[in-house]
Order: sequence, then C-alpha cells, then structure tokens
Amino acid sequence: MRNISEIEDLIKLISKLPGLGPKSAKRVVLKLINNRDELVKPMVNSLAQVYKNVTRCNACGSLKSNIDGCINCHNASEKFNKICVVEDIADQWSIENSNIFKGYFHILGGTLASVGHRKEDLLINSLVDRVAKDKIEEVILATSATVEGQTTAYYVKDSLKHTNVKITKLAQGLPVGGEIESLDDGTLFSAFKNRSNLNSNS
Ligand SMILES: [Zn+2]
Repeated sequence: MRNISEIEDLIKLISKLPGLGPKSAKRVVLKLINNRDELVKPMVNSLAQVYKNVTRCNACGSLKSNIDGCINCHNASEKFNKICVVEDIADQWSIENSNIFKGYFHILGGTLASVGHRKEDLLINSLVDRVAKDKIEEVILATSATVEGQTTAYYVKDSLKHTNVKITKLAQGLPVGGEIESLDDGTLFSAFKNRSNLNSNS
C-alpha cells in the first residue's frame, strides 16, 4: 500500500480499538472507503454527536446525554430502592441485559488497585450521597472476583458504614478472576440470588 497519510492515520486509530489489530483495521478502513455515503458520512456525524453530547455523569458514573440528562440516576418512570455498584459501564450493560436486577447502577470507574487508580479517582463520595438522597435500602457490591475487585468492595463497604444501609455482595462462586462483564446470565443470576449480607459480619 502506498502511503496515503489520511488512510494511514485512520488505520492507526482503528487498530487501537478493542479486538482490532493492524490487519483487521485495514479491512475496516477498506470497508469504510468502499461505502463512503452509507458508512463514512453517517459515522462522522454520529461520532461528532457522541463527542459533543455524551459524557460520564458526575453522580453515578454512567454515560449521560448532555441534552436529556442522566436517565441512570434520574429515572423519571421508576423510583428504586437498590443500587448495584460495578466497576465499569460494560458491567452495567451485562447486568442490564441479563434482566436480573431492577434498580439504580453506580459505576466506580475502576478498582482501587488497578493501574493509576487511587481511591480519590473512584466515584465513592457521590455513592454515599446517593444512598442518602434517594433513600436507598440496599447497596449491592458487584465488583469482580479479583483481588482488586474484592479490595474495592470492602473499601466501598467501609465508606458506607455511617449510612446504615444494607450492604450485600455478590455470592462467592463467581469464577476467581471473573469479571462481571464476561459472566453468563446463569452465573450472574445465582450470584445475585445468593448474595451475602455484609452488615452482620463487620
Ligand atoms: Zn447519573
């Protein structure tokens, strides 16, 4: 391939996406170039809209539209009494897709021990605020079954100790190292159903 710098730049960018190496990035770019009007044009538009209008909510850590506001923490149609605390947005999406849990989500934005994350970087203070403000009765800690995930769960639990809220944690039996995002619905279902109460053994 001769060096067309626009194409080379695009291939470099696309090969940074998950699951795409340089080879598949080239195939993606070819597909785009061959479908300028059907793909490139609407994609440019859509990316610009996402860049302009979608950001992370400061209160719950999920994605929100700057036009419609955050539907995750201001659900106008339903008022919930539970918050499920997860590490990443991908975890929220998995749990939502499985239809196991009905309630609010709170996205920490990582784990305590993950590279570059200090406890100040995780969205914990606003979780404490939400528990009080939304009259939450149960906080479900749904962090990964990794050392980092479990350390984070206990830190979050500790941060909530003055709220008197019921705190539960997904059942053991999650595969060790299991990230919530990659669990199948059956495993998630039993982890939710058999979640353990942390208030009693503190
Ligand atoms: Zn929100």
